[in-house]
Amino acid sequence: MSIVVVGSVAYDGVETPHGKVERMLGGSCTYISLAASYFAKAKIVGVVGDDFAEEDVALLQNQGVDIEGLERVPGKTFFWKGVYTPDMNDRTTLVTDLNVFANFEPKLPESYKDSTYLFLGNIQPALQRNVRAQMKAPWVTGGDTMNYWISDFRDELLETLKGWNFVLLNDHEARQLSGETNLRKAAKVIQAMGPNTVVIKRGEYGAMAFRGDDYFIMPGYLLESVFDPTGAGDCFAGGFMGYLAQEGIDLQKGHIDRRELSRAVIYGSVMGSYCCEKFGVDRFRTLQRSEIDARFQEFRKFTDF
Ligand code: AMP
Repeated sequence: MSIVVVGSVAYDGVETPHGKVERMLGGSCTYISLAASYFAKAKIVGVVGDDFAEEDVALLQNQGVDIEGLERVPGKTFFWKGVYTPDMNDRTTLVTDLNVFANFEPKLPESYKDSTYLFLGNIQPALQRNVRAQMKAPWVTGGDTMNYWISDFRDELLETLKGWNFVLLNDHEARQLSGETNLRKAAKVIQAMGPNTVVIKRGEYGAMAFRGDDYFIMPGYLLESVFDPTGAGDCFAGGFMGYLAQEGIDLQKGHIDRRELSRAVIYGSVMGSYCCEKFGVDRFRTLQRSEIDARFQEFRKFTDF
């Protein structure tokens, strides 16, 4: 099984209470594909400039990520810089230099088009729709978005969501998109927009998944220290989608075992939690699948009653 992942490939500057890094590999597509690669083959679609370092290409390739769809064009790679609040639950964006990302027109290599899983990372909704149109017949199409697209490109986003089987949002985005403050009501409203499965992430407090009339709630993993939460949401997406692909789950079906969806959410949380343990993508340089499964079992233990 393989997963096509579209999104930003970036350099990030990040400051947290634990330290500061001026420039390191980042981007939603990077985090999602690294996390997903522990479960299935991830194939990325993105764009970088001629400043993109060979060692960063090598990191992706060493993890088995297919980079045929990573375009390299003259200019600078997308740069993002943010600073976190002392409790790290919030961050302020200081710099967003789109650079070559401003003219990103995702083109899927032929070898990607019959993949069965498609994750549309946070890019302009019309581009997300365009990528979906290039795929033959994915079993699962889903993705995420952000406040900017929800407020300024609402109609375009609503058109795009019609074709999705699931959407991942944080609680603020779910409230903004639905116009409901109550998250249970918000999920219902969003389901009516298209995606039958709605996953609402609540940072360190965990996540909830709604599918049809059913729902599943779980707490976050209690990390002893969080170094850098950048990319945690994307790694959640990678773990969630990765597990669906590993198990060959088809979300288009009317009925899927609710435990399967719950497990996908837990693997998402496991990957999000590992991401926070080091700066940037560093944790993925050493992370082993056995550690991922061990933390999954820990979730089972601390939610059992
Ligand atoms: P997360 O912490 O999961 O929200 O993901 C953070 C990543 O998203 C960083 O690595 C950034 O490079 C990337 N990012 C930040 N802003 C944008 C944006 N406007 N479009 C696409 N990617 C972004």
